[in-house]
Amino acid sequence: MTVQPNSVEARDQAYQLHSYTNARALERDGALVIERGEGVHVYDNNGKQYIEAMSGLWSVAVGFGEKRLVEAATRQMSKLPYYHTFTGRTHGPSVDLAEKLIQMAPVPMSKVHFTNSGSEANDTALKMIWYRSNALGKPEKKKIISRIKGYHGVTIASASLTGLPNNHRSFDLPLAGIFHTTCPHYRVFAQENETEEAFVARCAQDLEDLILREGPETVAAFIGEPVMGAGGVIVPPAGYWEAIQTVLRKYDILLIADEVICGFGRTGEMFGTQTFGLQPDIMTLSKQLSSSYQPISALLINEKVYEPLADESAKIGTFGHGYTASGHPVAAAVALENLAIIEERDLVGNARTLSPLFLKRLKALESHPIAIEARGVGLIGALELKPRDGFALGQLGPKFAALMLEKGVIGRAIGDSIALCPPLIIDEHQIGTIFDTFEASLDAFQ
Ligand code: PLP
Repeated sequence: MTVQPNSVEARDQAYQLHSYTNARALERDGALVIERGEGVHVYDNNGKQYIEAMSGLWSVAVGFGEKRLVEAATRQMSKLPYYHTFTGRTHGPSVDLAEKLIQMAPVPMSKVHFTNSGSEANDTALKMIWYRSNALGKPEKKKIISRIKGYHGVTIASASLTGLPNNHRSFDLPLAGIFHTTCPHYRVFAQENETEEAFVARCAQDLEDLILREGPETVAAFIGEPVMGAGGVIVPPAGYWEAIQTVLRKYDILLIADEVICGFGRTGEMFGTQTFGLQPDIMTLSKQLSSSYQPISALLINEKVYEPLADESAKIGTFGHGYTASGHPVAAAVALENLAIIEERDLVGNARTLSPLFLKRLKALESHPIAIEARGVGLIGALELKPRDGFALGQLGPKFAALMLEKGVIGRAIGDSIALCPPLIIDEHQIGTIFDTFEASLDAFQ
């Protein structure tokens, strides 16, 4: 792309350091400018239309340009544009949203605590767990177990929980006390001739071995996404979560379900926790909570977490945690309206109904000569490309995603996998277009 002087692209190059971007490549190539969105589509500054088959960053459940969310934001802005929930203050939107989330929770939950991003929610979960262990008089019970390829965010603690090298390299992470156990990706991590069942048993055994090595009395919690998203859309084999939870229960270790991607319909149920039979003590939520029209995240915590935490706050005099914008009234009002739309339009039902078509078309790509594996559940999936001579691992994916982009579909390259996670409002015809383009791109890929 040639960047014109004084264009948005040129000023972007001049002034912005982008997230998850090779800064030197951006200085050379410039960024793609997205100007507006409508339904499942976004449009660049040349008017070119794309199907946003990633919902932005796995977020825009209700699609782009949803007027009801604009109106909800405007109404709340006019009434009370900002207030906080520190020091015993509150406001209607945060109360309404907290009540709604407790009602929606798939397992009994006691309280909601608001934060602003998935990273902050997971960071906060870790702080709550440390605080709780101190409250319980178990200051040694602080270690947290996550998984290789898990993604939990980028703050110092949540990046440490993340099990991907690029979130650690040169950042001097992970923090001490955070450990990563086996990733449940059967094709990649199974040993020779190991059945799926035996692989699941080994994942659980690896976890137990790690707990025993570290000392069960020192391990406080395990965090996992029901389906790994940013690690490459890794759907765990049958029985995986049951086996993991059996180990956690044996050693009195809390479970944090990171529902930041799965939450609110992505897997064909309201929560991934339901699809995979989890019994979490803490759930972290964001993204589809507000369709990312406003930054907001939430933690749902059960009695086991809340009670000691409340005791400790009474002992110290405060629960010394929270952000200026936690439970922001405009973000909360938008999230509430977004959840109303998800329910009224039965978008979870839509995900469930269209999932067989989505997964059938995805699976069909697996037999393409340049593909190696298709993975998916609900309306989230990925196709992994076969390694190729002349390409280092992870180089094919971005090149392929660029070709799809040229053809008008936005997917996301994760290494050599191409992820898809379309808005939950998608219809059959649009799913057809995504996969027709995917197929044509596979055929054309040199
Ligand atoms: N957890 C999961 C499962 C995620 O996918 C993400 C972001 O993609 C996060 C946490 C971090 O969320 P945020 O980018 O809002 O900090």
